[in-house]
Amino acid sequence: MTRTKNIAILGSTGSIGQSALEVVRSVPGLNVVAISGCNNLELLAKQAKEFSPQYIVAADSEVAAGFDFSGLADTEVLYGASELDRIAALPEVDIVLAAIVGIAGLPSTWAAVESGKTVALANKETLVVAGHLITDLASQSGATILPVDSEHSAVFQALKSGKDHEVARIVLTASGGPFREFNQEQLSTVTIEQALAHPTWDMGQKITIDSATMMNKALEVIEAKWLFSVGPQQIDVVIHPQSMVHSLVEFVDGSLVAQMSPPDMMLPIQYALTYPARVAGPSPKLDLTSAMNLEFFPPDLERFPALELGFDVARFGGSTGAVLNAANEAAVEAFLTQKISYTDIVTACREILDQHNFEPHPTLPQLIAADRWARQEMSKWMVA
Ligand code: NAD
Ligand code: MG
Repeated sequence: MTRTKNIAILGSTGSIGQSALEVVRSVPGLNVVAISGCNNLELLAKQAKEFSPQYIVAADSEVAAGFDFSGLADTEVLYGASELDRIAALPEVDIVLAAIVGIAGLPSTWAAVESGKTVALANKETLVVAGHLITDLASQSGATILPVDSEHSAVFQALKSGKDHEVARIVLTASGGPFREFNQEQLSTVTIEQALAHPTWDMGQKITIDSATMMNKALEVIEAKWLFSVGPQQIDVVIHPQSMVHSLVEFVDGSLVAQMSPPDMMLPIQYALTYPARVAGPSPKLDLTSAMNLEFFPPDLERFPALELGFDVARFGGSTGAVLNAANEAAVEAFLTQKISYTDIVTACREILDQHNFEPHPTLPQLIAADRWARQEMSKWMVA
């Protein structure tokens, strides 16, 4: 890299945020200007001491009330969610890493895109909910959205092997999660502990549950549609339990170009932060001197019905993404607090999606209303 890049990490205390800071520790030329966290304020303060950013945001003022941030000489402490939008748009920030989980990450991602930043996007929910508005906004503001999600980073890298009109299809890989080989009966008795034990990836709680239901792959199909301007008929999903091939692009001549590396988010995060440069970094390397098997299977839509929801939303667009995302966020929370079972998550999402009042060209307020409606429906679903 030729010059220092100033970055703001929204959600620095999370799984992606911590991996990003690990990248910053070992890659020269990345300067942390701002970080944020919501609940784990001890960690946020510790990160601030180590990286001396200009700003930290404690996103939930109530949680932060009474927390002692003293001893941060060079850092201004800001309180409340609206300050996230401010640090995302700071003139001195070059790159915003959007790593807040869920729709809570939408306003600050929006602010970063609106102010024309390079946005390293981990928060896939923003594209699921408002892909049409965010991509329009980016083309107006000149913002660049770079994928952080490992599959989309792989696709982004593989796409460099040909021209857009030479792409036949995008193949997203999925580990299949902890229940890849479970039958319907076993799926009906899944516990929280089982669902939180992902076989290949170490991630935050929400995306870990999404991976277990394969809702994560559904959200990634929608994410791919918006990131790469492809239709759902050009997107396929393949189960690849080893999580070494992060995704593939098939070109019209039949060539499949893949990106491979061990399952660790530091590499896709680093690629987005140093892009277009590739530099040495802390990510583990694949050891091809020891034997390994790479397997690929078609997904089972009967045992993992979430996938179809992703393709439906990619096909219909409009308000469907906001409804699916909100129903899923509420359902995951309900599962984690033992209010519904594992299989209820996707059943409820399907029912709520099918009931909703479809709006083909929603505005942001209409999307927020659709989100609210879906969460209310989820509460009703639980007591019904
Ligand atoms: P996480 O739960 O580990 O961290 C979430 C971060 O968001 C934390 O810093 C938390 O403090 C902050 N946060 C939570 N609620 C907030 C709120 N209401 N307001 C402001 N901040 C809030 O999640 P994660 O696994 O790091 O995932 C972050 C995003 O990256 C998600 O959108 C996820 O889908 C995506 N992603 C994660 C991985 C992974 O390996 N973890 C891989 C691909 C994509
Ligand atoms: Mg992914």
